Parts: sequence; C-alpha cells; structure tokens
Amino acid sequence: MRIRALAALLALCVTTGCAARAVASGFTAGRLNVVTAFYPLRFLADRIGGSSVNVTDLTKPGAEPHDVELNPRQVGQIVDAGLVVYLKGFQPAVDQAVAQEAGSRALDVASVVPLLPLSTSTDGEKETAHGKDPHVWLDPVRYATIAGAVSARLGQADPAHAAEYTARAAALRSQLGALDAEFATGLKTCQRREIVTSHSAFNYLATRYHLTQIGITGISPEAEPSPRRLAAVAAEAKRTGTTTIFFETLVSPKVAETLAREVGARTAVLDPLEGLTKPGEDYFSVMRSNLAALTTALGCSS
Ligand SMILES: [Zn+2]
Repeated sequence: MRIRALAALLALCVTTGCAARAVASGFTAGRLNVVTAFYPLRFLADRIGGSSVNVTDLTKPGAEPHDVELNPRQVGQIVDAGLVVYLKGFQPAVDQAVAQEAGSRALDVASVVPLLPLSTSTDGEKETAHGKDPHVWLDPVRYATIAGAVSARLGQADPAHAAEYTARAAALRSQLGALDAEFATGLKTCQRREIVTSHSAFNYLATRYHLTQIGITGISPEAEPSPRRLAAVAAEAKRTGTTTIFFETLVSPKVAETLAREVGARTAVLDPLEGLTKPGEDYFSVMRSNLAALTTALGCSS
C-alpha cells in the first residue's frame, strides 16, 4: 500500500475506529460515495445523484477553493470514493491526491468541455496549470454538458440507479437551458457591455453573453494587483463609462472599493460561485442574483 493511503487509513482509525470503516467498495450502506472538489461540482452530484449517493465536498462551505489543502481524512475519502469529480489544473492538492489515489474512479470535468485560455486582460498571469481558465461552471451551457458527463459516470459506477441519474440529469439540463435563455434575453440590449471584476472568473459568462471582462487581478482571487494594473483598469473603467465595480463574496472587497472611489463608481457583488456564503442559496439562486446585478450595472432593458 502506498504511503499516503496508509497515512489516510491510520488517520481514519484514530478518528472513526478501524472496525467501523467500510471496505473500499465505493459504497456505504448501499449508497455510492461521491467526492467533489468544490461547490458547483457538488451541486451537480447532489442534484443528479439524489438519495442514491453520499456526496462529500473537499472544499468546505465558505472556504475559497483555489488554494484548498487536504487533510488525511479527506485523502481517505478519495480512497473510498466510487467517483471523484474534480477539475484538473484548478486545485493542485486535489490534482495530486486524485492522481495518487483515485485512478480510473475520477472524472476530470476539464476533459468534458474544452477550457478557454486565460483571459489576456489579466496582466499575463498564469496561475493555473496549463494556462487554462478553470471557471467553466459560470457558463450554463457548458455546465449542462458537464452535468451529462457526471450522470454518465454515476451510472457506470452504480448501474442499478443509472436510469434515475439519467432522468435527474435531463431535468437539471432543461433548468440550465432555461437559465441560459434568461441570461441571453436579460443581457441582449444594454447600454454597456464591459464588466470590471475583482478576480478574472467571468470569462466564460462574458464570452457566452457577449460581454467584455476587465479583471482587476488575475485568475487567483487573493492576488494583489500591481499599481500599474490598477491604473490601467481605472482608465479603462472611465473610458467605458463603468458605473459598477464588482467584487465577490469570499474575498475582501478592499481593492474593488479603492478602484470604485477612484472611478466614481459603486460596488456590487458578482459571485463566481466557488462556494456558497449564505444558507438557502444554490447554483440557480446565485446565478439569478448575478444576472440581476449585471442588468442593473450595464443598463440593460428587457
Ligand atoms: Zn476563481
């Protein structure tokens, strides 16, 4: 047995007692164990898997997923999973644990839909592996394609419930289709199409709905922008008549507030959905709040 897996098992013996631990069949009490890397992937597994799966998310609620670290118990959950859903190149610690422990039980959602290159508006930062932009879930169309792949893999891992997974994924995909239509209509006729965002998470959304993202920092939300970058964004915001500087929920709004003061704009939340921050929210409610924030900021008429 590999050292990491052994360490994980030992940690489990300490926390749960070895006797209570299920044999690594991928199932616990008849339900498929599914491990997801962060919230949007968790949402898919929950919605499609329903009561036939146990979903464990490696990024805790309220945590910022880019720089997640895994403890031995979480590595043990990957060892025991029937399916691991992750996005290669987004979270190095997850990539490493999946490569060592999950083998063919992992679904890399970056292999389902081609990822866009990192936006050139981010000052040339290349902070993810392969220079690709991970924030693919912010495009409802690509996200629906990923939902189909999650459903197929759940069915392979748990053939007894395959029909159920297929049916729930079809319902979810039609809801995502409706969300896409709401975005397309809501953002069709607007006074402006530039969105100034704190971290450059919105390229998929911007590309889908013909907006232009001006990211203050690069792909990693906690990076500090250089004074040169701030000055360039301020000039661009003034030139385009920007009324709103967007910040996000899991990271301090300080940089966005500074920029808003300089430009004479207000700030508002545009949520990259990397984790939920309020009880009762889900993918759809946050996306609809994002749409409302965008139509207000961009002066869209419906
Ligand atoms: Zn991000």
